[in-house]
Amino acid sequence: MTAHWTEETTGSAIPRAAVIGGGPAGLMAAEVMAKAGLTVDIYDAMASVGRKFLLAGRGGLNLTHSEPLERFVTRYGERAAVVSSWLERFSPDDMKAWAAGLGIETFVGSSGRVFPIQMKASPLLRAWLRQLDGLGVTLHTRHRWIGFDDAGKPLVRNAAGDTVAVDAGATVLALGGASWPKLGSDGSWTGLLAEHGIAVRPLRPANCGFTVAWDEGFIAKHEGEPLKNLALSFGGTTMRGELMLTRSGIEGGGVYALSAALRDAIERDGEAVLTLDLRPQLSGEQVRDRLRRPRGSESLSNWLRKSVNLTGPLPGLVRGVAGSSTEPSRIAPLIKALPLRLTGCRPIERAISTAGGVDLDELTPDLMLKRLPGVFVAGEMLDWEAPTGGYLLQGAFASGLIAGLGAADLSRSFTLPRQDLAQNSSTS
Ligand SMILES: Cc1cc2nc3c(=O)[nH]c(=O)nc-3n(C[C@H](O)[C@H](O)[C@H](O)COP(=O)(O)OP(=O)(O)OC[C@H]3O[C@@H](n4cnc5c(N)ncnc54)[C@H](O)[C@@H]3O)c2cc1C
Repeated sequence: MTAHWTEETTGSAIPRAAVIGGGPAGLMAAEVMAKAGLTVDIYDAMASVGRKFLLAGRGGLNLTHSEPLERFVTRYGERAAVVSSWLERFSPDDMKAWAAGLGIETFVGSSGRVFPIQMKASPLLRAWLRQLDGLGVTLHTRHRWIGFDDAGKPLVRNAAGDTVAVDAGATVLALGGASWPKLGSDGSWTGLLAEHGIAVRPLRPANCGFTVAWDEGFIAKHEGEPLKNLALSFGGTTMRGELMLTRSGIEGGGVYALSAALRDAIERDGEAVLTLDLRPQLSGEQVRDRLRRPRGSESLSNWLRKSVNLTGPLPGLVRGVAGSSTEPSRIAPLIKALPLRLTGCRPIERAISTAGGVDLDELTPDLMLKRLPGVFVAGEMLDWEAPTGGYLLQGAFASGLIAGLGAADLSRSFTLPRQDLAQNSSTS
């Protein structure tokens, strides 16, 4: 299959490009292609675009992070080198400038995370869609991509059930991962690409919750309660954060930051032991000193509350591990290093993001599939992952931009005389 980018196939001297998937990665690809002068059509399976982006804005849209770029890129782990090459073209500063260009000012929160002043995604998405409309981009909602025809054209099925071959010289696939499938990204594209021999790494939950075999009495009493101001450790990494107790286990920012390593360990060993420091602001010695206070006839909960200010579910957690041996020499080390046995990952449907996806070896540096020339891939459907903190959207936007620029370059090489091509490349 090759790009079919001629006047004959497009019916116009202006090249057409298609974006399939209207999340942040696809919209960014559409923006750069439209700005490069292409006629762009966006197809999305849902009735509206950017649904996960809107959900991301519900708890405060964390667009990117303000930490130095050298540290920023380490958040992409094994993929740091390749993502760093994307960030050279669209950096965290570019993200802020881009939002400002849409009239959305940002601020840096106390954690260093960057948010729009309004916190929500909806004003940003509205302004973005208005801009795309002004650039002549056409949205086709309720159009599901179902593969390619024999000539390599993308096939979409519309709401009436008709299958339409999309006339586009270049296509950017930005179909997302497999978390929150009810918002549109359901990972069903994996089989469609595998049919073309494209290696796709299994989609796995990232930034996800974990299962814990709670004592029934404990969880009945504490379900939905947060554990605040913890230090969580696993595999040599310690993070400050908080957790939420759920009926099936734990959720929350604190564990998301360690979730890739925990998930890998569970897949390998069947379980992983997360260590919680319940009083990170006290040293082990200070905890031991405070527990010298005689317990007398006090309940364990009262004694722990009065001695080391353990409240809410925390005494119960300690009791669950200590069992009947409640002497200070047993309890003090548990307060500083409580082992919590995680027996599984919560389903990908409830994860913040997805690990796995199109193997990066399948792609050229501008994110075109080597086996399907003219087809580019961007966003969460690529095989990279990152913790929460703005790194996910930054990666989705930056890869969308790279794929869009690649598609625009390819388009120009098909349509412009050589001297125009040289001129355009030097200004792009
Ligand atoms: C609860 C939650 C909170 C989050 N908060 C943040 C945050 O604050 N900061 C951050 O950086 N990240 C956050 N994220 C992650 C972020 O939303 C994603 O990383 C981002 O949306 C990925 O963008 P994408 O364009 O690659 O995919 P998506 O946003 O998933 O978009 C994919 C699009 O493709 C469409 N599609 C899928 N299959 C087909 C098909 N076959 N045919 C046609 N269309 C199709 C879908 O309908 C969808 O519109 C959050 C995620 C969740 C779930």
